[in-house]
Order: sequence, then C-alpha cells, then structure tokens
Amino acid sequence: MTTLNWADATAAVDAATRILVVSHVQPDGDAFGSALGLANALIEHGCQVDVAIDGGKLDFVEFLPGIAILKSKLKHGKWDLMISVDSSDEDRTGLAGTYGRTHSPKVINLDHHATNTFFGDIFLVKPEAVSATQVVYEWLVYMQQPITKAVAVPLLTGLVTDTLGFRTSNVRPETLGIAMHLMEAGASLTEITARTLDSKSYSTIQLWKNALATVEMRGEVIAATITQANLREANISDMTDGGLVGLLNTVNEAMIAVVFKELSDGSVELSFRCKPGYDVAQVAFSLGGGGHKQASGATIPGPLDAAQERVLALLQAAASVGSLTIV
Ligand code: 5GP
Ligand code: MN
Repeated sequence: MTTLNWADATAAVDAATRILVVSHVQPDGDAFGSALGLANALIEHGCQVDVAIDGGKLDFVEFLPGIAILKSKLKHGKWDLMISVDSSDEDRTGLAGTYGRTHSPKVINLDHHATNTFFGDIFLVKPEAVSATQVVYEWLVYMQQPITKAVAVPLLTGLVTDTLGFRTSNVRPETLGIAMHLMEAGASLTEITARTLDSKSYSTIQLWKNALATVEMRGEVIAATITQANLREANISDMTDGGLVGLLNTVNEAMIAVVFKELSDGSVELSFRCKPGYDVAQVAFSLGGGGHKQASGATIPGPLDAAQERVLALLQAAASVGSLTIV
C-alpha cells in the first residue's frame, strides 16, 4: 500500500520547532543517509533537529555531512515531532524510537518497506521507492526545499547502498533521474561508491575465510554460518557480515541466499537475499522480521542448529514457488 500524506507531513513540520529524527537498529547506508539528509534539510529549513540511531555510527559514515549531530542514546529532550525513517516497524526504531515516541506528541512514519506496519500518525510510505532517501528526496521536492550538497550526499548514499549500486530489479529510469539531480547538487557518485559498497576491512575478509568453510547448498538455497567464535577470532563486533550474503547470492546455482549469525545472547540473526522473481520478504515477515522481496532479515531464538533447520525449510519452500525473472 502506498500512503503518501505529503500535505499533512509538511504541515506537521511547519508547525514544529523541535524535531527528532530516528531510523532503525543495525543501521545501514540508507538508515544513516535518510536520517542525515532529512535532518540537514530541516536544519536549513529553520528547525531545531536531533538525530538518534541505536548503536551509533558505522566507520564508513564518517564522511556524511551532519554526522557530528548523530547521537546513539537519548537521555533527555522533548520534541514537537518525531520522524522515523527507513524503519518498517516500531520495534526497529530501537530505544531511540521508544524514547522519542514518549517525548513527542506526533510521529511521521517515512519508509519504503512493503512490510511497513503503519505505526505513528502520518504516513509517507512508498514501497516502490528504492530507498528511504528517495522518499525524503520526493518530500523535499514537494516542500520546495532546496537540495544543497549537505543534503544530496546522504541522500545519494542511501540510493546507492540500497540498490547495490543501481543493480536491484526495482531501479527505474526515474531512479537515475534522482541520482542525476543529487549529483548536480554536488554529491560524488564515485566517492560514495568507494566509501560504501567498495570498502571492506581486512577483518571482514578474515571472517569470510571461516564463514566460507561452512557454505552448503540445500536445493536452490545457499547458506553460510557465522558463530560468536568466528566473530571473536576476526575481532569483529556482531554488527555486520560485511556483505557476505550478497556474495552468496551471486552464485548461479542458488536462487536464495542466507547467512545465519549467532548473536552474543544466543539468538540468531538471519540475512536473506534472492534472485529477481523470488521473494524472501514474506519469509522474514513470518519470522517477525521484514525487508524487501530481494533483501530481508529477522532475528529468531537459537540455538543455531534448530534455527538453521527451521529457516532452511521455509526458504526451500519459497524457492519452490519462485522462478528466475531477469528482464
Ligand atoms: P540485512 O540483511 O542487510 O541486514 O537486511 C536486509 C533488509 O532486511 C533491510 O532492508 C533491513 O531493513 C531488513 N531487515 C533485516 N533484519 C530485519 C529485522 O529484524 N526486522 C525487520 N523489520 N527488517 C529487517
Ligand atoms: Mn532502506
């Protein structure tokens, strides 16, 4: 369902002085990009803006304009309006979202996930948008807010990272039109690509070395596992697999890819990807998570081996009802 209340959302911003922007836990390029792009525009619009995302910064986001205002925890504050970006459900807004919700009378839910649960009061939800930053861009155009370089860089970052460099099946000619406008406003596609998609630490490769030893195919589903021991050995916090699931999804024989990651509390984080014509969003949703047809995830109870059997059965069923559609 597309629900775009541009007028109500704009009126809420115009009536507000203090605005809180939050995004989702386990933040990615689109989470940081949509939060900071919107925050920078609202500051230029004359609002007082706070931005909070649980878990704080990933190393790669240091180049984003406005990164200095990002908080990883909210201890005090009251706002006239909270805006959640790129978060498909309220839980995913984390502690920052929970705190913000109880200290803001109104919430705008801006998102591009088909699995959005429509929490909050005003909706800017557009599942056809390739990124939350596309929705932010369209809102700023509606508001006639000028797109400066400080706004364009974070917005193009979300566009680039959520489309894996304009390669996902939802990319349309208008997607490239938006990218063109953001580049004209001063954002460098070369720099953003180099700092996000084409950037990995050596520790990540150490982690992959062990994880690749666990790779198995179950029918058309390819799977790998990362344990707490693997993470410790590679000296990595459990924030990211560095894109391993994306690598597995390039395997020709596999239609669906999954990475199982054991978290420090024993629960298991699932990362799903699939080829065009398949759908992993519904599997994630049925497990209490969410995402997009081709990229989704969830966190479920452990232990690891029980989680693997349960999830591989669901993914094999999803693989059996899809068919590869590359057009
Ligand atoms: P990733 O595999 O990169 O962590 O996540 C892929 C997609 O699935 C992203 O769009 C992300 O927002 C979504 N996703 C991952 N984990 C969860 C989850 O636990 N809950 C929800 N609602 N979405 C998730
Ligand atoms: Mn997104």
